[in-house]
Amino acid sequence: MGTVVIVGGGTGGAPAARSLRRKLGPEHRVIIIEKEKMPANLAVLPLYAVGKKGRRQVFRNRSLLKRHGVELIAGQVQKIDPAQKKVYTGQEEIGYDLLLIAAGAELDRSRPLGMAGAGFDLQSFAGVDEMRAALPHFQGTEIAIVVASTNIKCPGAPYEYALLLENWFYRQGRSRDISITVYTPEKAPLIMFGEKTSGAIAGLLLKRNIRVHPEAHVRLVDPGKKMIFLENDSFPYDMLLYYAAAAPPPFIRDSGLGGEEGWLKTDRHTMALQGMEDIYAVGDVTQVATPSGEALPKLGGVAHLQSFVAAANMAGLLKGENPGRAYSGFAA
Ligand SMILES: Cc1cc2nc3c(=O)[nH]c(=O)nc-3n(C[C@H](O)[C@H](O)[C@H](O)COP(=O)(O)OP(=O)(O)OC[C@H]3O[C@@H](n4cnc5c(N)ncnc54)[C@H](O)[C@@H]3O)c2cc1C
Repeated sequence: MGTVVIVGGGTGGAPAARSLRRKLGPEHRVIIIEKEKMPANLAVLPLYAVGKKGRRQVFRNRSLLKRHGVELIAGQVQKIDPAQKKVYTGQEEIGYDLLLIAAGAELDRSRPLGMAGAGFDLQSFAGVDEMRAALPHFQGTEIAIVVASTNIKCPGAPYEYALLLENWFYRQGRSRDISITVYTPEKAPLIMFGEKTSGAIAGLLLKRNIRVHPEAHVRLVDPGKKMIFLENDSFPYDMLLYYAAAAPPPFIRDSGLGGEEGWLKTDRHTMALQGMEDIYAVGDVTQVATPSGEALPKLGGVAHLQSFVAAANMAGLLKGENPGRAYSGFAA
C-alpha cells in the first residue's frame, strides 16, 4: 500500500489524481491538498471578461473528485520535508510515499512600480470581474495592457484579451473611438513560438488596429497622472489592464527544493524532480528546459499532458516498475 500526495488540484493536479486513481488499486491512497474551495480555471477569464462565459464556468468544483476515490484535504501547504516524506499545512502534517507538486505559479504584482494599484488584474477573477463591470461605463479612448515580464502564465493571453476587447467595443459600435495598446517586453508578439506564429498574431492585431509596443520595459505606472513610464518614453492611458510576472510559490524555496530562481527543475521526460526519485512536479511550478535551452511556456496544455506522464510513472513505481513514460514536449 502506498500514499500519493498531490499539492494543488488545478489544471495539472486534478487530472493526475484521476489518472492515478484509475491506475492504482484501492489499497493505495491518492490525496490532493488544495488551498482554494473552488479553484478558478484561468483560461476562461478572457471570455468571462467580455461576457462570453459566466461565473459558474470559471470555477471548478473539486468535490467531484471524491467520486473518483480521490481524498481531498483543504489547506495551504507551507512546507515539505523530503527527508521525513512529510507535507505540512498550517493545521496538519501528511505523510507520503510519492509526492506530486502541481501548485502552479503565483504572481509578482510589485513590479513595475504603481502597476497593481493603477488598473485591473487580468489574472485574477476579482480583477477581471471589476473590469467587466467597468467596461460599459468606460468614457475614455486609450486602453493600455501592460505585460510585466516575458515569464508569464499563458503568453498568448494578453493578446487574447486585446482581441476580445476590440471585438466587444466593435459590437457596441465603439471600436473606432477606442485605441488598445499592448506594452510587452517581447521583441515581437509571441516571438518565443517562432517567426511564423509571431507574424500571424502581429497581422491579426494590425487588422484590428491593436497596437503593440514591443521591448517595452515599463518602469513605473502613475495612476494620478494616468501615465506609463518606460526607460526613455511615457504614454497616457485612460484604462490600464495589467498582466503580472509569474513567481514561484514561496513554500518551494522554504522547503529547499527550488533552483536558483525558485522554480522546480524536473527531468523533462519523466517529470521527476532532478535528484529525487519520490517527488514529481508538473505545470507552471516547473522550469523545464527544452533542447534549445528555452524554458517551456507556462500553459495549461503543458500541465495537463505532463500530469498523465507523472501519474503513469508514479503508478508504475508503486507497482514496482521503472518509470518509463516520457513527456513529448507537446503543448496543446
Ligand atoms: C488569463 C489566463 C488565461 C489562460 N489561458 C490559457 C489557455 O487558453 N490555454 C492554456 O493552455 N493555458 C492558459 N493559461 C495558463 C494556465 O491557466 C496555466 O498554465 C495552468 O493553469 C497551469 O496549471 P497548474 O496545474 O500548473 O497550475 P494551476 O492550474 O494554477 O493549479 C495550481 C493549484 O494549486 C493550488 N495551490 C497553490 N499553492 C498551493 C499550496 N501552497 N497549497 C495547496 N494548494 C495550492 C492553487 O489553488 C491551484 O488550484 C491561462 C492563464 C491565465 C492567467
